[in-house]
Amino acid sequence: MTSKIDSFISDLKTANKVTFLTGAGVSTHSGIPDYRSKNGIYHGVNMSPEIILSPDTLLHRPELFHQFVMNNMYFPDAKPNLIHQKIVQICNQKGELITQNIDCLDTKAGNKHVTEFHGNLYNIYCTKCHQKVAFNSYQKSYKHECGGIIRPGIVLYGEGIDSQVLEHSLQAVSTSDLIVIVGTSFVVYPFAGLLNYRQANSKVWCLNKTKIQTDIAEQITTDALKVFQELS
Ligand SMILES: [Zn+2]
Repeated sequence: MTSKIDSFISDLKTANKVTFLTGAGVSTHSGIPDYRSKNGIYHGVNMSPEIILSPDTLLHRPELFHQFVMNNMYFPDAKPNLIHQKIVQICNQKGELITQNIDCLDTKAGNKHVTEFHGNLYNIYCTKCHQKVAFNSYQKSYKHECGGIIRPGIVLYGEGIDSQVLEHSLQAVSTSDLIVIVGTSFVVYPFAGLLNYRQANSKVWCLNKTKIQTDIAEQITTDALKVFQELS
């Protein structure tokens, strides 16, 4: 594995432009669990995140939606870890980050080259009057003073990706000679489809605990933290 890590680090050094594609595995070291593995209980019925995190639940069972996101998704005290920090260093020199994470930890780490593909949990607003709402107000209630329902600006199951976000992500991938996938099993579309827009001669590395389904990436099947610890 050491020689593979050396080879990855060498590619990182020689690349002209790097795009990182990251997922939940980056934030687990900050104590944020993958919410996709959680279920919610509602009137004694076990419900999957796909059902709960939908526009239908948000609008018709807002108390369930609110309870689920507060119990399973918000970790306001979480701090960025070494992976976030190393990615910032590289992005500042020559790169960009497209993340599926909605926890704001890349922004907290000081990354100014981050695109949040699925939005973020702290962009909170009222669905009726569109006024921004502070996290501590949303924590107390999902009901806005205008009578509307408050929601976080994350992409729910069944909702589309913001067109500007999508366009910018495609542009980043298509102009990079190195793409590094970190901490994601890379199965959620359209995120996973971004790879289709890479340059034909670009290199693709994947650092993840489990192998992803692709034959175009060099894979280091390990906790990504181990690899980033090797970066000077
Ligand atoms: Zn309102």
